[in-house]
Amino acid sequence: DQFGIQESLKRLGIKPENSGTSTGVNWIDSGEASISSFSPADGTLIGKVQTTNQETYEQVISQAQVAFESWRQVPAPQRGEIVREIGNALREKKADLGKLVSYEMGKSYQEGLGEVQEMIDICDFAVGLSRQLYGLTMHSERPGHRMYEQWHALGIIAIISAFNFPVAVWSWNAALAWVCGDVCVWKPSEKAPLSGIACQLIAGEIFEKHGMPEGICTLVMGDYKVGEMMSQDSRIPLVSATGSTRMGKLVGQAVGGRLGRSLLELGGNNAIIITENADMDMAIRGALFGAVGTAGQRCTSTRRLIIQENVYEEVKSRLASAYSKLVIGNPLDEKNHVGPVIDKDAVDMYLAAIEKVQAEGGKVVVEGGVLSGAGYESGCYVKPAIYEAENQFEIVQHETFAPILYLMKYKTLAEAIAIQNSVPQGLSSAIMTTNMREAEAFLSVAGSDCGIANVNIGTSGAEIGGAFGGEKETGGGRESGSDAWKAYMRRQTNTINYSSALPLAQGIKFDI
Ligand code: NAD
Repeated sequence: DQFGIQESLKRLGIKPENSGTSTGVNWIDSGEASISSFSPADGTLIGKVQTTNQETYEQVISQAQVAFESWRQVPAPQRGEIVREIGNALREKKADLGKLVSYEMGKSYQEGLGEVQEMIDICDFAVGLSRQLYGLTMHSERPGHRMYEQWHALGIIAIISAFNFPVAVWSWNAALAWVCGDVCVWKPSEKAPLSGIACQLIAGEIFEKHGMPEGICTLVMGDYKVGEMMSQDSRIPLVSATGSTRMGKLVGQAVGGRLGRSLLELGGNNAIIITENADMDMAIRGALFGAVGTAGQRCTSTRRLIIQENVYEEVKSRLASAYSKLVIGNPLDEKNHVGPVIDKDAVDMYLAAIEKVQAEGGKVVVEGGVLSGAGYESGCYVKPAIYEAENQFEIVQHETFAPILYLMKYKTLAEAIAIQNSVPQGLSSAIMTTNMREAEAFLSVAGSDCGIANVNIGTSGAEIGGAFGGEKETGGGRESGSDAWKAYMRRQTNTINYSSALPLAQGIKFDI
């Protein structure tokens, strides 16, 4: 155990066999089949987690309903105090949790630590927010009247998360939802269940320490079937779901069918435009991390480079040379740049995409392939690949969740922006330029159509302070900073008449 995994698991409270259903500090035995969590780093079985069944799901939801009645009455700054302590507990467990995330999901240890840091940051943000859940006041058209709006807690918030950010996405939702007075039921990805268990153990204890009832911070476990229980459940006013566009369409329809609210954070197809005025060192570094970081498994990973024709050859050769220096291997070993993809299905999708881009006429720049031999026994390590492709290729229009980068050429900036926008997804985008006119055109209403548009930064690596999310098939949801909290509350408009008359709005007369 070269990286001290067993010690970390022990400190986090992860056992070989775990219940997957919890109402807080209480864990419920469902007696159902377990999900086995294997590390893509070395193929080892890390532990097992029981799935939630209909009966244990009901227990969780009814507990959450009861808890909401009292939690919503706790003053928001006091709710913030509890979230502050969760942030502090995460600070203490940062190294262990970061390691588990890295080992279970396959991202580098540095990125695992970064993910836990994001959780800490959003807790801090939520603490401040707990004193800033502001509504507006308006001037009434009627004399002796006052109008204002206030924000009330919504109820039970379902959080369905993806494997690639197995812990941060939960915290983006839960930390805000809690200060807003909501209670949460979280279904982590079935591909990274132990990271979910570790978070539940950390947060559940803090609620208990403050004498809070079970049901505010709850966990269910399983695949899409448990997700469906949540999206069809009219006791849940908001379902926040992160994952593929395919999943988002199903969840959106199910929740929309009962006129509930959904907050969808779905797939991206992110591009960097590299103009002839780019700082080339910066452009190469930005593109490299964007394309190969997390083995291309970020929703914001760079999938397309749209390059001005005069610098195209330079970008191509410098990238190829940078790719030749990448070290692929165990994500916990800090000398490696690229870790594994999540599982063998992901390897198959990667191979199918490479086959498809070639069949459609793509030309190889950096060859891909699956690695084997010592250190690669899990079968989940693939070589980051680069292809010259055209934007309208079917495979380029599709998000392949693997380290494959497509290069394409442009002449004018207008053409580059049109290429960048001509995909079904609308998550993240970037331009590399030192020219102010190019940068501003890219950010203008006629520029990028994405939820995130950066200048001289790659497409990945958002900070929690901004609202995170994207347009079109990315789902339209916004999470994390800015005023994303409003999604977790209901707005109430209040008009108060302190006069002794009863005038009607719009001057309508109604006298008897
Ligand atoms: P996935 O869609 O396979 O699964 C995501 C989650 O949805 C899992 O918890 C899964 O159990 C659940 N699920 C699947 N089908 C469901 C259904 N019919 N009803 C309810 N729940 C269902 O995605 P994944 O492979 O875990 O993650 C990769 C995808 O997530 C990529 O497309 C990536 O871009 C996207 N992603 C988006 C963001 C974002 O913020 N926009 C962030 C991270 C990941």
